[in-house]
Amino acid sequence: MASLAEVIAEALQHYWLSPLALTVLAVCGASIGTLLYVFITNARNAKLRVSLLTGLYAISIFFWAFIAGSLVLCISQARMVAYARNGVPIAVFGAIVSGLAASGVISLLVWRYGNAAVIRKFAPRDVNVGEEWVQVYVNLLGEFEGVSPVHLRIVETNENLALAVGGKDRTILVSTGLLKLLEKDEIETVVAHELMHLKHHDAEFKVFSRVVSRLLFFDPFSKFFDPAVHREREYLADEMGGRSTGRPAALASALVKIADRGIPAKATWGLSILGAGRGIFNRYPPLKERIHRLLLLSDLLMADNALSGKH
Ligand SMILES: [Zn+2]
Repeated sequence: MASLAEVIAEALQHYWLSPLALTVLAVCGASIGTLLYVFITNARNAKLRVSLLTGLYAISIFFWAFIAGSLVLCISQARMVAYARNGVPIAVFGAIVSGLAASGVISLLVWRYGNAAVIRKFAPRDVNVGEEWVQVYVNLLGEFEGVSPVHLRIVETNENLALAVGGKDRTILVSTGLLKLLEKDEIETVVAHELMHLKHHDAEFKVFSRVVSRLLFFDPFSKFFDPAVHREREYLADEMGGRSTGRPAALASALVKIADRGIPAKATWGLSILGAGRGIFNRYPPLKERIHRLLLLSDLLMADNALSGKH
């Protein structure tokens, strides 16, 4: 009679050498490879890159959940996997289903509780009389962009914070420091940038990718995806915010002011409009490139206006 360790070794060998399990791994690998190739060859297309990264993220969560589910089944059902007639296919099917279910449950829990946790962390207050105009602007723009209602709430701090929190109660948080630092039109473009994060569900996704990259701390892919998702979503929110306000240059000027006055501390979870760090593990795109793209967009919009003025 074989010992339990021998049965498990046999089960693992049968399982990981089976064409079915290898096919699942190969499909994951091929999908990741294809998405990465399209990602790398489309450097300037923020919208496409955001979708690609979302896909890459989902595949990498499934990949690890599948591996974990497979190992659990090979150990807990070792005898079936090693000796039963359809043991391996049943286990592969079980691992796929449990992988999908685990990804689903993780996503649901993060979505349900992650956003509320972020709001609690910043302990915001409601707007007072002098700040009401920002809420009025948010309402107007939110209605136009089809993302209402959005609550504006204020964080009492000298740090220059602006962030969007999604979920059930969509909220834009701005700090008193930011309201003091920026001019009216700059504040409008900053909240427009945050509103675009809500419109594209970046706000939920940022919290999601942040939590998942902590859960998958051993996964080299998520170390790369998490910051990459943030960077692409910043470019996209800059562009869409600039287009919808028609004043991308005001957003560029707001970013320069925030950078000059001191970037918020790391404690903002990489969610604020501007943060510290650089390189491929940084959650923020290079400031120079953001400014460059915003000013290009500004030139483009002005050229458009000049043309339509002549007609
Ligand atoms: Zn942003």
